[in-house]
Parts: sequence; structure tokens; C-alpha cells
Amino acid sequence: EEIFMITTVNPATGETLADHEELDGAGIEERLARAASGWRGWRETPLEERAGLLLRLAGAYEAHKERLARQCTLEMGKTLKSAIAEVEKCAAAFRHYADNGPAMLEPLRWDLAGGGVAEGRWLAQGPVLAVMPWNFPYWQVARFLAPTIMAGNVGLLKHASSVQGSARLIEEMMGEAGAPPGLFQNLPIKSGAVNGVIADDRVVAVTVTGSEGAGQAVAEQAGKCLKKVVLELGGSDPFIVMPSADLDEAVKQAVTARIQNTGQSCICGKRMIVHADIYDAFLDRFTVAMGEVTAGDPFDEATDMGPMSSFEQRDTVLGQLAMAKAEGADLTGGAALPGEGAYMGAGVLTGVDPDGPMAREEIFGPVAMVFRAADIDEAIRIANATPFGLGSSVWTNDEGEKERFVRDIEAGMTAVNRFLASAPEAPFGGIKRSGHGRELARFGLHEFMNLKTVLLN
Ligand code: NAP
Repeated sequence: EEIFMITTVNPATGETLADHEELDGAGIEERLARAASGWRGWRETPLEERAGLLLRLAGAYEAHKERLARQCTLEMGKTLKSAIAEVEKCAAAFRHYADNGPAMLEPLRWDLAGGGVAEGRWLAQGPVLAVMPWNFPYWQVARFLAPTIMAGNVGLLKHASSVQGSARLIEEMMGEAGAPPGLFQNLPIKSGAVNGVIADDRVVAVTVTGSEGAGQAVAEQAGKCLKKVVLELGGSDPFIVMPSADLDEAVKQAVTARIQNTGQSCICGKRMIVHADIYDAFLDRFTVAMGEVTAGDPFDEATDMGPMSSFEQRDTVLGQLAMAKAEGADLTGGAALPGEGAYMGAGVLTGVDPDGPMAREEIFGPVAMVFRAADIDEAIRIANATPFGLGSSVWTNDEGEKERFVRDIEAGMTAVNRFLASAPEAPFGGIKRSGHGRELARFGLHEFMNLKTVLLN
């Protein structure tokens, strides 16, 4: 039988990194069978045993931090220092669920008016499939894996094609931590094989982090199969700056928010919406600061941004910038850099029509759109004028304005006077076309569990 390969490429050089053998039908069947039998054992483990595994997993990530980080820097171009921080954050999430997971799974209890009591018991459900993107190859998976382990479920991973080496290392870390067979398995498959896995009776649910297209495809199949789905999709987060804000800090954080991970984070501040009274001052400083951002060798400690994750990703962003210019917007910076890698400079777009097609796009690269708002009403209107509703960041020292933003911005998350970042302790997720369901905190743990109601006298 013919063997198919998934080929990974270093975006900093264009060189081929590895050919990963794609699982055939028999290979997928073998892993599904192992997931099902592994789950029968894992669901019965005491919570302390699950916590113990999570702590050993945290230890494995910490011990192999450098190796894990190098692999993902090679595969998707993020700076090595940010890759190391990502691995450390995964370890923190594993520890968080080890320490706090058992309390999140305490039985609930309600007195019934008609007599007797009802208890709520959190039970495992079975194998869950995770379809994951390349932008945070370890963190996206950790957000799924930590609650999977604590829940007593088991996990199957279909990782992005471009980060198959990182996916393999996650499986290796689970082995090193002493996970029983079938608790977590990497499926080196292309997206065409995903529907079959979702349809399999042994798989109980699916979670996807990625683009709207991937979310639609996976949710459609999950719907057909009547299986629960959590969707963490795209975002075009507003970053709103009002006159009472600390402007220096807002500018500094706006740059960090926009260029982190070479602009390839779902919760990057992507649209800077600035009150007219400070618009010119903000724009001048922001444009200068974006011009000072360095793109270069991701292994160099001094680099701000590595290359884009792939040449295709860079082409997509350059295409969007051409479209913005055709619509009449002005672009400063944001050009492809000469040389062999998929590098591009940070950039600033102004004059984008807030009601035009460009304003509704998610730019998954280091280029910000900057909009002028006459007042808070207009700022909120522009903020909400996209199909997305993931995160947001608002900068104001006016208490009334803060409450307006919290109430009226259509998003799953709002950060006030700080940039938005995920944390294991706080729920993460979006609304509108950014998806539904939550990851992290107790909500992420509960998503794929059976809350069984038990009636007692
Ligand atoms: P993507 O192309 O959608 O890929 C994500 C995953 O979905 C990959 O494993 C991909 O596999 C798979 N996939 C793609 N099409 C599929 C299909 N039709 N059926 C089944 N699986 C499919 O997304 P991306 O370009 O890697 O990531 C960028 C997007 O993800 C952005 O929109 C970003 O905002 C979003 N994102 C959201 C969050 C969040 O938490 N909300 C976090 C990070 C990123 P292949 O690689 O094999 O195609």
C-alpha cells in the first residue's frame, strides 16, 4: 500500500524539516481501539492519580523545555524565547489542574422542594478529538490535554500539518510522564481524515481551535453525528484607547499585542480604535514603535518577531494588505522582507473604511488597523462591527467607560488597562463567529464531562 507523507518546512529558511508518515485507515483504527480500551481504565482512576500524572507531565515539559521549544521554533518560526515561555505556561496549566481540578469535581447537591435531594456528579465521557492549529503548538494542546486528564477522558490529537514534530513530542512527554496507553494519542493525519474520526462511535466529542473554515467543517460533521463540539475560532480583537488612558503604556502594549507571535495569535489586538482627542498622538507614537520592531532569526535573543509561520500565511496577509490599499487605505511598513525566509515587517493601516469589507477581516500577521472614533459610542460601534467576538482590550481610567465596555463589547473576554492573555485560572473563549464553549478554569474542565443528576431520598 502507498505511504503518504506530511512534510514540514522551516519558514525561516524554506528548507524541508521532515517527512512524517501519515496514518492509514488501519493505523487510525488501531489508535481508536486503544483510546476506547484506555478510557475504560482511566475513567476509574482516583482524582489523586490523575493529579499525579499532571504533575509528572509538568515536570517532563520543564525538563525538556529547550528541546520542545526548539522544535516548534523550527516548525513555525516563533522566537525561541517565546517558545520557551509557552512550554513553561503549559507546565503551569498542568499544575493548575493537578492542584485545583479535584475541587472542581466535587459533587453538587440540591434540596428538592418535593422532598429528597439531587446530587450532581461529574463523570468522564470517553475519547475526545482535538483539532489544533500551529500558532501555539504546545499551549493549544495543553488547554485541551490538562482537563482531559483530570476529567478521566482520553484525548486524540489531530494537530496542524505544519507542526507534526511538535505533536510527536507531546505524545513523547505523555509517555515520559507515565501515562497509560491510549490516554493521549497523536494522529498524524491530514484534515481529510478528520470526518471519519468524528463519525466513529468511540469518539464522544470534538474540540477545534483554528479558522472559521475548519470550525465550520468540524461543527458540521459533529452536528451530523450529534456530538458536542467546542469551537475556538478566529478573532479580530479591538484595542480601544480613550483620552483618560496612560498613553505611553497603551502604545507600548498595543505594539506587543499586535506583534506577539508575529501577529499570529487569535487574541492579538488587531484593530486599534482610538478616541479622536488622542488619535494623532497615539498614531504618531504607535507608527514609530511599530517601525522599530525587528523581524529576524527566531533563535536570536534580540529578535522581536521570527518569520511568519509559512510562506502561504505570509501570502495571505500580503493579499489582505493589497485589498486594503485597493479600498483606499494607507499602509506604513508591512512589507515582505527580502531573503529566503517567510519574513515580513510590522505595519500600520490607516484610512480603512470601518464599514467596508477590510474592516471585517482578521489579519493573522503583524499589521494593525487603526481607526478614529469620535466618542465612546462610535468606539463600541466600530469594535462590534466584525463577525468575530473573541477578546478585547480597553484603555481608560474612567469608571463609567469601563463599565460601558464590559457591558457592550460583544466578546468573550475584555481586558481593562492591560493586554489580553489567557491564564489557566480564567475561562477562555468567544462568541459570534469566534465560536462557542469555554476552555480553561472549571468551565473548560466541565465541557466534556457528563454532569449526572442522582436523585436520592
Ligand atoms: P486552520 O487552517 O483552520 O487549521 C487548524 C486545524 O484545523 C489544523 O489542524 C488543520 O489541519 C485543521 N483543519 C483545517 N481544515 C479542516 C477541515 N476542513 N476539516 C478538519 N480539519 C481541518 O487554522 P490555522 O490557519 O492553523 O490557524 C489560524 C486560525 O486559528 C486563525 O483564524 C486564528 O484566529 C485561529 N485561532 C483561534 C484560537 C482561539 O482560541 N480562538 C487560537 C489560535 C488560533 P491542517 O493543518 O492539516 O490543514
